[in-house]
Amino acid sequence: MRITGNMINYYFVCERKLWLFAHGLQYEEEHENVQLGKLLDEKSYSNQRKQIMLDGTINIDFLEDWKILHEVKKSKAIEPAALWQLRYYIYYLRKKDVKIEKGFLDYPKLRERIEVTLTNEEEQELEKILSRIKGIISAEQVPKLVSKLFCKSCAYYEYCFS
Ligand code: SF4
Repeated sequence: MRITGNMINYYFVCERKLWLFAHGLQYEEEHENVQLGKLLDEKSYSNQRKQIMLDGTINIDFLEDWKILHEVKKSKAIEPAALWQLRYYIYYLRKKDVKIEKGFLDYPKLRERIEVTLTNEEEQELEKILSRIKGIISAEQVPKLVSKLFCKSCAYYEYCFS
């Protein structure tokens, strides 16, 4: 089962949103869709790349020297979701033998940056989260509607409340 970065994020936002997204109600994003092999081939030409979709699974905002990931966010509204999304990117790339040291959550509007690591304990917790996500999206029925503070800004608002 393929788990994307968005799914990690939505797990922390709303299980119903996660299920809807995983079951095909999703929006296309503009990205450069490439495979890791192609990226590695091009490594000698550029140490830094922007907006990379890898394996159709994780969408990296910025990769610095093949060691540091950056995830750019507009606000800190749902920071745990952003933290675990970035930890998942570190995990995913390390599994592909890319030696990622750490990541940064960048908030350009707030002029802030948060350093994100993936310790052994966090990796174990992440694997539990991945297992829970698989359980949610393999369910036949969409999770029950539970109203959230941010429903009005959710892409599925009309689906849930009309
Ligand atoms: S509108 Fe609210 S309940 Fe529906 S998917 Fe979005 S966040 Fe979840």
